[in-house]
Order: sequence, then C-alpha cells, then structure tokens
Amino acid sequence: MALDQQLLEILACPDTHHAPLEHDAGAQTLTCTECGRIFEIRDDIPILLLDEARLPGSSSEDRPAARSAGPLAEDSVEKPADQETD
Ligand SMILES: [Zn+2]
Repeated sequence: MALDQQLLEILACPDTHHAPLEHDAGAQTLTCTECGRIFEIRDDIPILLLDEARLPGSSSEDRPAARSAGPLAEDSVEKPADQETD
C-alpha cells in the first residue's frame, strides 16, 4: 500500500499520448500502457518524468541509441551501379 487508488486513476504518462499507467506494487513502479515506459515510485511519489523513465528492454540508459540490433546485415548493402553508358 503506497499509492492512492484515486491518485492512480488520474495519473497518466507524461508523453503526448497521456495513456493510463499500470501500478506494480511489488516493484514500486508505474508502467505506461501505451509506450511501456517504466516510472519509479520514490517515497510514495511517482516520478512521472520522461527523462527519468526507463524504456522497456533497456537496462541502462547511459549510452545513446547507437546500438542497432536489427536484421540489417552487411549482406544487404547494395552496391551502387557503376556503369558508364556512352
Ligand atoms: Zn507512455
């Protein structure tokens, strides 16, 4: 028991979609039902800041999103057509 049910009902994601949040009493977090951001609750105060939110699937937010774990391999790099028509 940490947060008011009434308070929970008016809380929303600070992002533009303002989606409702899901309270995880065990983890003391609020999870956005739209974007999945996880907001911590510290001392019964939900930290509803995008800067403080954790994105799902990322353990640390230290480094910028330079890591691309996509299916784009070097195989699929297309070579430029190098033909000269005269
Ligand atoms: Zn959201």
